[in-house]
Amino acid sequence: MTRTVYLNGEYLSETEAKVSIFDRAFLMADGVYEVTSVLGGKLIDFGGHLKRLERSLNELDMKKPAAFDDLLEIHRKLVELNGIDEGLIYLQVTRGAPGDRDFAFPDPETTEPTLVLFTQNKPGLADNPTAKKGIKVISIDDIRWGRRDIKTVQLLYPSMGKMMAKKAGADDAWMVEDGFVTEGTSNNAYIVKDGKIITRNLSTDILHGITRAAVLKFAREAQMIVEERPFTVDEAKDADEAFFTSASAFVMPVVEIDGTAIGGGSVGQVATRLREIYLEESIKAGV
Ligand code: PMP
Repeated sequence: MTRTVYLNGEYLSETEAKVSIFDRAFLMADGVYEVTSVLGGKLIDFGGHLKRLERSLNELDMKKPAAFDDLLEIHRKLVELNGIDEGLIYLQVTRGAPGDRDFAFPDPETTEPTLVLFTQNKPGLADNPTAKKGIKVISIDDIRWGRRDIKTVQLLYPSMGKMMAKKAGADDAWMVEDGFVTEGTSNNAYIVKDGKIITRNLSTDILHGITRAAVLKFAREAQMIVEERPFTVDEAKDADEAFFTSASAFVMPVVEIDGTAIGGGSVGQVATRLREIYLEESIKAGV
């Protein structure tokens, strides 16, 4: 079935939606994005994703592509048109297509941003069996740029990281800088030790995960202790549990790092509980 996608004000078949070869995201990765999950036909953490989109646009002096109320309507319409019950909505804003290649930013008065949204149908997203057995990660050097807090479409290194993991027989990679884990290739990383949830503090070194914010809030509400600080791979190997969070995987247990089993190699209670709370509360708050 061909999807209906959104491009610059129009709902089109995915085979008809076309973007210029001069688009700045195509030539220079000059674009930002968001991924929002859909559960029971409702958007999860939508307010958080919009807020982060606004921040990414501001940090890069990019023009807003549409009124933010309109973005909610577009998301809802795509869910409806594509009959999505469980899945994802991908949104991308680029600095537009000035009609030639030039390093200087085009004049925003004459070059409109490109706005693209499309759905990904993922039945069974919430009830993912992988969450019951956990995943394996490897550690790799974090050689990305210094503004990882901006959600840009420069995803080459994270893609390479996933391929390195696959080659090593693992599922994903956690990136390490100056001896400390920054984050996963497309998620935020956590360990649990002696009942404490430890995750790297927010800075320009990591993406400020929307799922991270919600999960830490729910953890604190459930009287769990949260320590926001960097941790090492050795600490992770010695932890009682590990997990990651993202808008597409929610809370996902990690049971092995660089070949060493974490918490005896089985899924931990804290991650399992946080996944349950996150799904329950965020589905209730879905829009
Ligand atoms: N870090 C990185 C590098 C990511 O790509 C993502 C997912 N986009 C996350 C963390 C998790 O963020 P969120 O919970 O908002 O999906």
